[in-house]
Amino acid sequence: MSTRNYFDIEKRLKALSDPNLQIQTIGIIKEYPMYQVSLGTPAPGKTNILLTAGMHGDELAPIEAILQFLESDLSEIYKNFHILFIPCINPTGYIANTRENSKGDDINRAFESDTVPEANLIKYALQDRTFAAHLDMHEDYDANGTYFYEQHKQSEWLAPSIAQKSKKIGPLNTESDDDTDEEGLIVEGVYKVSLSWGEVGLSPYVFAHHANHVIITETASTSWELDRRVAVHLLAIDEVLKHHHPE
Ligand SMILES: [Zn+2]
Repeated sequence: MSTRNYFDIEKRLKALSDPNLQIQTIGIIKEYPMYQVSLGTPAPGKTNILLTAGMHGDELAPIEAILQFLESDLSEIYKNFHILFIPCINPTGYIANTRENSKGDDINRAFESDTVPEANLIKYALQDRTFAAHLDMHEDYDANGTYFYEQHKQSEWLAPSIAQKSKKIGPLNTESDDDTDEEGLIVEGVYKVSLSWGEVGLSPYVFAHHANHVIITETASTSWELDRRVAVHLLAIDEVLKHHHPE
């Protein structure tokens, strides 16, 4: 089993030079800080967006996508958006290259309890905050292509058009998954974030308490090379921002 160095992420966060980015520690997991990065602050005329990655430590592309996005020119985006990034929710899982944290907990099944520190830190960081949209980025070892989940209040489905655009990067997933039963299917490659899931996962938790629109991206972590997976997540970020652009 490969292991990774968390310092690789910290080094890139600390090297960010955009003066509108503020890096803070949400809390410490073992000796590893969980970071949040804010682009600007909430302000009239700006749309609040939440971007999260690294919930599962063996899903590398979402973390890389957030880092590349943060390293890009954000000056135009800053004018219109306040974005809260949580680039690596699960530092101990990232280091060990495991889905779960070092205690064996799947953080994305822990948002209805208060027993998993990473989930508690996220809840604390999000309290009293609202977002026009939340994008939670993941990968799937069994998938052979990209797929998405989405849920919203009072807007149109967005993920179907992202799915169509993502076909330029690579095909949509065709592997069936027992977890994504047919009644949740919106169109090829897009499923609903089901209310039947409760609030155990971050995306339904945020949808219940902090955002009117949630999307989950899933890329094929074993069958696609990293660059193409990152490109899908960056496309999703771009499309979410375009969709929620103020005015
Ligand atoms: Zn995941």
